[in-house]
Amino acid sequence: MADMVRSHQPRDRHPEGAAPIGNQRSPGALAVLLALGAALAGCGHLWPSWPFSGDDDFSVATSARFQAHAAGEPPAATLQALEQAAALLEASFFPGRNVAQVEVLMVDWPQLRRLLGANRTGATLAELPGKGPGGKRGLLVVYGQDATSAGALHRLAHLYLHAVAPRAPLWLHEGLASYVEAGEVRGDDKAPLACLGQLPRPDSAVALGDLFALSFAAFDDNTTRSPIQFTASSVVDYFLMADGGKLRGKFPELIARLGEGLATQAALEKVYPGTTLAALQENVTAHRRASEASPRGRCPIAFPMKSSERMPAPKLTPSPPGATDSLLLRLRMLPRRGGHLDWYPPEMIGLPGGQFAKAARP
Ligand SMILES: [Zn+2]
Repeated sequence: MADMVRSHQPRDRHPEGAAPIGNQRSPGALAVLLALGAALAGCGHLWPSWPFSGDDDFSVATSARFQAHAAGEPPAATLQALEQAAALLEASFFPGRNVAQVEVLMVDWPQLRRLLGANRTGATLAELPGKGPGGKRGLLVVYGQDATSAGALHRLAHLYLHAVAPRAPLWLHEGLASYVEAGEVRGDDKAPLACLGQLPRPDSAVALGDLFALSFAAFDDNTTRSPIQFTASSVVDYFLMADGGKLRGKFPELIARLGEGLATQAALEKVYPGTTLAALQENVTAHRRASEASPRGRCPIAFPMKSSERMPAPKLTPSPPGATDSLLLRLRMLPRRGGHLDWYPPEMIGLPGGQFAKAARP
């Protein structure tokens, strides 16, 4: 089957062995780290500069959908941004879907750099490797002071999409997550609205054939994150907004077909019969040009939200003994990866329940 998800080869579990992460080091220290890396390569742990020590004093806060771990007190504004982003996504693209309880590791900037390298501002993990109670419903690793709505929406969109479409291809993940970044809650407290449909900010475009063929591993190493996110979110915008919204009704079905693992062109043919790649390329470009010439206003598509979304303040809860330590230990089992990708789907983590394991079942 010409399925791009299945045809993707599982990545080498230790691709970053010699890649410096974070701080510059002296040649001597590097040699020690390389030796350490080589020694550890056999058991899958390769974090040359693990940013946590046993002395870190973590506390835990819980909100409706999240459990946050942070050194010191977890920042309430960051948790509130995540709650609001989740409410917006549940009111719009993912009605009735609840991903709780999602764990959030809130770190400072130097720790984030050492964990994720220089190219990422956060990461969303489908699950954690290893055994333990934490991270079963996903883990977000974030800069604790990042209370931006765009960051929260992007990271959470990956988890919600994964919940409804476990085999969604990279372009749909990055396209949707980038598209919802501009989402806003408007209206008053009694009748709040989730506003989506804002035109993605312009960038250079990539050919749709190349976009649809991209694998998670390929995206990891490339330097064209921004054009890819722009093009993918322009495709999402086309299906939501083109022709006065006529294509919008079937977009959830397209997500579902892609989420079952159907290749993009086959899914398009099934949901929007007669759509060739060439025609789609032409239509998306034309739609984009027409959209740039006619401003849309501040709430192009409005979804009513529950008025009960007034959020109670997050509660600081006593952490079960060792809860954060166990989370960090399992985070440390994650294969390192360079590049830009902020979404770690199960097959990138090497989980037995990942997409490849599912695909192999009859
Ligand atoms: Zn992303």
